[in-house]
Amino acid sequence: MNYFTPKDDKLVCLLCGHYCTLKEGQKGLCGVNQNIAGTVKNMVYGRPSALHVDPIEKKPLYHFLPSSKAFSMGTIGCNFKCPFCQNWSLSQEKSLPDTDYFSPERIVELAKKNDCQSIAFTYNEPTIFYPYAKDIALLAHREGIKNIYVTNGFESSEVIDDMVGIIDAVNVDLKSFSHNYYQKELGGNLELILENIKHFKRNHIWMEITTLIIPTKNDSDEELRHMAAFIAQEIGRNTPWHLSAFHPDFKETALPSTSVQTLQRAYAIAKEAGLHHVYLGNVHLENDTRCATCNEILIQRSHFSVIQNRLIKGCCPKCLNPLEGIFDAN
Ligand code: SF4
Repeated sequence: MNYFTPKDDKLVCLLCGHYCTLKEGQKGLCGVNQNIAGTVKNMVYGRPSALHVDPIEKKPLYHFLPSSKAFSMGTIGCNFKCPFCQNWSLSQEKSLPDTDYFSPERIVELAKKNDCQSIAFTYNEPTIFYPYAKDIALLAHREGIKNIYVTNGFESSEVIDDMVGIIDAVNVDLKSFSHNYYQKELGGNLELILENIKHFKRNHIWMEITTLIIPTKNDSDEELRHMAAFIAQEIGRNTPWHLSAFHPDFKETALPSTSVQTLQRAYAIAKEAGLHHVYLGNVHLENDTRCATCNEILIQRSHFSVIQNRLIKGCCPKCLNPLEGIFDAN
């Protein structure tokens, strides 16, 4: 895909739903894509600010190569301004890091060396560094390594189409079901995110959804019901939904942490909507995957560890019905 297109004497960045129009020298809202001499240069290409080996369960992805390791990387910058961001020291950083150059080849080598079955573009919003992520992902596939995107769902439709055959799984944040909250407090657009979630589904990219439940911001029964109904009806009842507990961070320090009772209320609402796979995150509760047909335990977990994976070729060992997800590394 083209990452930008000319418009009069300016350039339009095509990487995310903001479609920033940039005059010579200007940076977009994310702070990392800049119009320089007739091209939109991705300023964080080759300049990751965070590199870690994480369990895949930490992304979180529960129906994607369980108990494997994901080589996780992020840069600075973001196209949102969420006041509760738990990675704000990266996402809201404006100065480019003074680090070594990490070529796509070097990233894939590190993933191989650390025995990772996937590379996760995570920590900050990967869409803003898609040119770098894509070059890494193409090389990773040649080495038999899969690619994961942990995203706020504000990609351009061009990027979502380009991801087909390159990005194997996404975890999309659905942060709210309020148009105003997305627009005023987060700097996004609910309608575009809902459309993008449907777009990922149409493009057959494996998807799990995460919602950080924030007291007073998105935890009313009504809002939770809207989110649950959207996932169940538009994406499918087998879509995993991760309900995560908020802890005070960044600018949102006056709110309390999410209680276990609130998470359990959200869980009940999700089950009422018909969702089969609902998980509670950031609290130490059991999060087993059960068969949607016979309720047999398929994957038993403790926090981010898999205690037992009973799947047989992705199917329930008792009733033999398949679990939706990706369980084969090949
Ligand atoms: S990635 Fe998004 S926010 Fe950044 S310059 Fe491009 S369109 Fe603007």
